[in-house]
Amino acid sequence: MFEKVLIANRGEIALRIHRACREMGIRTVAVHSTADSDAMHVRLADEAVCIGPPPAKDSYLNIPAILAAAEVTDADAIHPGYGFLSENARFAEIVEEHGLVFIGPTPEHIRMMGDKIAAKETMKRLGVPVVPGSEGGITDMDEARALAGDIGFPVLVKAAAGGGGRGMKVVREESELEDAIRAARTEARAAFGDDAVYLEKFLDHPRHIEIQILADTHGNVIHLGERDCSLQRRHQKVLEEAPSPVISAPERSEIAERTATAVRKMGYRGAGTVEFLYQDGRFYFIEMNTRLQVEHPVTEMITGIDLVRQQIRIAAGEPLGRTQEDIHFSGHAIECRINAEDPLTFAPSPGLVSDYHPPGGLDVRVDSALYAGYRIPPYYDSLVAKLVVRGETREDCLRRLRRSLEEFVIGGVKTTIPLHRRLIEEDDFREGRYDIHWLERWLDGFAPED
Ligand code: ADP
Repeated sequence: MFEKVLIANRGEIALRIHRACREMGIRTVAVHSTADSDAMHVRLADEAVCIGPPPAKDSYLNIPAILAAAEVTDADAIHPGYGFLSENARFAEIVEEHGLVFIGPTPEHIRMMGDKIAAKETMKRLGVPVVPGSEGGITDMDEARALAGDIGFPVLVKAAAGGGGRGMKVVREESELEDAIRAARTEARAAFGDDAVYLEKFLDHPRHIEIQILADTHGNVIHLGERDCSLQRRHQKVLEEAPSPVISAPERSEIAERTATAVRKMGYRGAGTVEFLYQDGRFYFIEMNTRLQVEHPVTEMITGIDLVRQQIRIAAGEPLGRTQEDIHFSGHAIECRINAEDPLTFAPSPGLVSDYHPPGGLDVRVDSALYAGYRIPPYYDSLVAKLVVRGETREDCLRRLRRSLEEFVIGGVKTTIPLHRRLIEEDDFREGRYDIHWLERWLDGFAPED
């Protein structure tokens, strides 16, 4: 097992990884920008190294600085968390070239799944159903028009290198197609340095269902069921739950086993999430994330399995030590993503956290790096806390979630807590009746009382 792990991230996820390492007897190295000197992960880690100024490109994305930090502290392995360098195949390669272990999949798998066109082709070949669309990238406008006609409008133009919901355009009729492809290309080139785009059928009332996978280096692959992440704003998840209120046990087994089989055939290693849209009883693959997901605690709450510990064990070459039969799902879990944002306009609200009182009690988990007196810097993602609650049934879970949201105090900055308080009272949500477009419609009429 590793003696020392460098955590190439910040915020709640850096703390999450630190906690797993601590419990495994592994020492930790925090890296941080000058804006994060007083961050909780920096305070708790065994060692901390400043890797640059506030902008992420100069610090959390600064590969030479991160490697230098690993070398001077004599770390054995690097955990990238999510975001930043977590899906950067070149980073994974460089880490390995320096004789360190990258806690994640091989660079080849990161690269393959990072190209969504290649990912779809691979999954289709391995027997996983995909969203109908172009076989590969769009090279020619006439071809695109013919293809869109075959698929049927509306269609979605997507960036092969896409992520974070960027570079996606819905096209309702043929006359809009050319402009949309051009715009998507420009956006993709600016955001990802790659302007390849492809076409997909736009599904009008799907749910987002994703399967959590764990694969070791000895050929063992298991799934940990699904998460339903259909509550989204601008293609970004806002609240996630497991199990999905709309998936039956046979449907779960069928898609999860098919996914696990495909991942086994790929020779994949590590944790991974295979994302699907689900509509009218059918699953359609959209992409695979080759990293830990923000919403991973939802799965941990109903399986009792520590996903970060498993990632570290797998990276150290240990076998999973469990088979599919050992995985049992117990109860229902929901995660609310709490952002330091105005709950009406979603404008970021960084600044001094004057009060901090997280909820507690049985089956209530708060993953956050906040503390009273902490100043949220304006440079990074606005996610500041994840409230994750478990109950025996979905109804128990909702009761506990309501109580937890009532208790939660984050003073001094605006947060999306009021939005979650209202959201969980909605009949459609309480009854599990929502698709990926539901939240945006609901937000149009939203006005929090507090
Ligand atoms: P990203 O990598 O940018 O997150 P994804 O391919 O994972 O992109 O899609 C993000 C979200 O966009 C999905 O969860 C879903 O809400 C929406 N989306 C993606 N593909 C489709 C589609 N074919 N039809 C309708 N919505 C889609």
